[in-house]
Formats: sequence, structure tokens, C-alpha cells
Amino acid sequence: MNTWAEMNETQPLVSKMLANSIKKDRISHAYMFQGAKGTGKYQLSLLLAKSLFCKNRLDGDPCNACKDCQRIDSGNHPDVHQIIPDGQSIKKEQILHLQKEFTYTGLESNQKVYIIVDADKMTTNAANRLLKFLEEPSKLTTAMLLTENSQAIIQTIRSRCQIMALQPLNPKTVEKKLQEQGLSDSSAKLMAAMTNNINEAVEISEDEWFANARKLVVQLVEVLQAKPDEALLFIHNQWMPHFKERDQLQQGLDLLIFFFKDIIYHYIGNENAIVYINLLDQITQASMHWSRQYATHTLNMIMEAKRKLDQNVHPALVMEQLTLQIQR
Ligand SMILES: [Zn+2]
Repeated sequence: MNTWAEMNETQPLVSKMLANSIKKDRISHAYMFQGAKGTGKYQLSLLLAKSLFCKNRLDGDPCNACKDCQRIDSGNHPDVHQIIPDGQSIKKEQILHLQKEFTYTGLESNQKVYIIVDADKMTTNAANRLLKFLEEPSKLTTAMLLTENSQAIIQTIRSRCQIMALQPLNPKTVEKKLQEQGLSDSSAKLMAAMTNNINEAVEISEDEWFANARKLVVQLVEVLQAKPDEALLFIHNQWMPHFKERDQLQQGLDLLIFFFKDIIYHYIGNENAIVYINLLDQITQASMHWSRQYATHTLNMIMEAKRKLDQNVHPALVMEQLTLQIQR
């Protein structure tokens, strides 16, 4: 993330507030960036750090070219410390080490920043240690605590931070970002429907298992239309061996849901909402074969199957029942 304008595309509220604080030189001693996975907490912390250190700052934005900017981006800046969980937790020793580093004056300026990733993973001892540190703020120190769950952090720490809530990304934004990362239009659209975490979306889209899952969904729809009597056989021989784990099967059913939703979108003429833009022929064909009522009924059955999976009903049984219900 290089500029506040760029950050503004995904996190308008937080970007405006922080860019303003930078311009007016009113930076807090401590921030807490709270938001779900993929909302850009870490990128935000680096952008803020660069804005604080960059000497060529222009209208609040860092230059992204100077030594300070480059070293912050690569995680090598001597006055920007990062703490990440050591295994499952952030330990007291890590905070003590940080404090020790901070007793020296800054190596190149007096400005210092520390970023605590997954701050909710601090042990009680670590949190109490950090609290002491936050209680004696130094003018030139800025703390940034990143977390998916600020409620898991003790109130005394939270009350000393300015809390910034990052919003989940909307599917259109995710789709655009994924296209920028080189995903095809159809993959970007499908991934954006599945997750709003860019990194996760890229990972899934490159996964061979997932590519095969997509193919199986199309095949199942074809079997259901052309040879419904063979659907159960298909489920046993092809579908179940691929969706072995419960969460894999959930994902498979999500993919199936998109297809039936697309049929309904086709019926109501909302083509823009269609997720499988590479399967328009199959969707058109399916809507000639199945009525809108049937598609709605099937959609409800699939959602019911997902609920049963959540309630620990045996996966093979769930799929058999679903197949029989769809066949009718
Ligand atoms: Zn710079």
C-alpha cells in the first residue's frame, strides 16, 4: 500500500482519519487496528509508519522511494519494531525485549514505532508488561496493535489506544483487486463471491483441488439434467471421493449454491449478479430445463444440507438425501 488514496479505496473511513492526523501532525501514541483477516491491517500499519518516517512526505503521503520508506516496506527499519506471535502466543520476553530496545534513543531519529501483529495473542504477563509501557507514553513513540478480535485484549490496554475499525471489503472491490493480481475475470468473480480475503482468494484459485471441485460441480449439474437416475452413482463414485472432509464438502455445496442462484438471476434478468460468468451457456441451458420454482426449491435443499453438515450428520448421508430431493 503506497498512498492514502490507495488505502482509501478499501478503507475510506480509517484512511481519511489517519491521513488527516498525519497532515495536522496529530498522531496518537497508540493505535489499535481491528478488522477481519484480509482487511489490510498490516498494510495500513506500514503505510502509517512510512508516513511518519519519510522525509520527502508530500501531502501526507510517503515517497515510497527513500531509504526510510524502502526499509519499512522490507521490514528492516532500525526504528520500526515488529512483534509477531512466537508459536501460539506473544510472550512477556518479547515485550521486555521491545522495551529494552526502546530505552536507547532512535538510531537515526528519535521517532520510534512498534507494530504488534495479532495483539490478542499476548499472554496475560505480556499484556500487563505492555500496559506499563503504554502508561508512560513518549512523545515520539507510536504503538500499533493489530487484531482480528479487540475484545480479547484487556480493557486497560484498549482504553489507551485509539481504536480504528477496518471494514470488510465488498465483493466488487475484491473482484477488482483479484483481476489486478492476474486472475481471470471468471475466477476473480467466483473468488470474490467466496471470500473477501485477497490472499486467501489467490491461494484457493491456484489450488488444483479447487479447480477439480469446480469441474465436479458442473458435471453434477449435467448429470442431474441428462441422467438423473445416475446421480446417486455419480455422488458415490466421483463426488464423495473428492470432498472427503466436512469443510471441503461445505465448499462444494457453496459452489453448487452459486450455480442455482445463477439460474435464478438468469430468470429475473439480473445478469450482472451471475457468478459463473464463464458458464453462461450451461446456465441458460439449465434454466430451460428447470423452472424458477425448481431452482429455488433446490437452493433451499442445498442450504438445508449445509445446516445438517454443521449439525454433524454423516456427510455421505447428507449428500444422498440431497440428491434424492433434487431428483424429485
Ligand atoms: Zn520516503
